[in-house]
Amino acid sequence: MPELPEVETVRRGLQPVLEGRRIAKAVTRRADLRVPFPPKLAERLTGRRVLALRRRAKYILMDLDGGETLIVHLGMSGRFTVYPKGSNEGAMLGDFHYATPEAAAGAAKHDHVLLETDEGVRIAFNDHRRFGLMLLEPTEGLEQHKLFAGLGPEPLDPPLQGKVLTGLLAGKATPIKAALLDQRVVAGLGNIYVSEALHASHINPKRMAGSISPPRVTALAHAVTSVLEKAIAAGGSTLRDHAQPSGELGYFQHHFRVYDREGTPCPTRGCKGTIKRIVQAGRSTFYCPVCQR
Ligand SMILES: [Zn+2]
Repeated sequence: MPELPEVETVRRGLQPVLEGRRIAKAVTRRADLRVPFPPKLAERLTGRRVLALRRRAKYILMDLDGGETLIVHLGMSGRFTVYPKGSNEGAMLGDFHYATPEAAAGAAKHDHVLLETDEGVRIAFNDHRRFGLMLLEPTEGLEQHKLFAGLGPEPLDPPLQGKVLTGLLAGKATPIKAALLDQRVVAGLGNIYVSEALHASHINPKRMAGSISPPRVTALAHAVTSVLEKAIAAGGSTLRDHAQPSGELGYFQHHFRVYDREGTPCPTRGCKGTIKRIVQAGRSTFYCPVCQR
């Protein structure tokens, strides 16, 4: 499942081809993903200019002229593919022109939304498990939309501050792992990067959130921002390496220090511990019982 760095990588991959461009053509090839598409979605997207491409938590927000924003969630398996302009050697699928006949054949089943910009760049949204989401909502007051009202601060831009996180965790009698997964505390954090940030800041995932000293919470806040930024940088390099010509955005191989590394030596310098897996609130947590206190 894409976490914040993957979503941010997708946003950064789409930004140069969409921001400021007009959507010359839009096609929807089914009626729904997780929920039905907005009525007449393709018609309502056609002709609109993309003013900005933003992200809030794990949602991509495409602000359009006319005062509406396309909200996109990648769900479990959603992905965008960009076919650059000039890739005209390809194949047609319906009235959508793919870069290669293979792309057209492979896309036939799961490319649900297709966009073409006024520059001739083509963008396909593919989601084989269909847990993704697309909504078209008024831009004004979007932060009050039920998806966004009550979300905590973003962990990046500006970087999460120790003081802010200390305030958010104050008095919380839940394990820090669960507190960080709560989207009302910090928006967009998921299972993988919470494990990584707790390890980087040497905090035991079972420790009660409200009992961690402010200097350690500050270290944790820095670790949250740092692990996300490193993952985005890794995604960004993947983007540069592989964006052309297939242009599939947002999925890349990470090197995790503790996530999914049960039984391996702890990567903390000088630590002789072994990474352990426990289950907290139904989710796997990976940590080192020796150096995480
Ligand atoms: Zn350790």
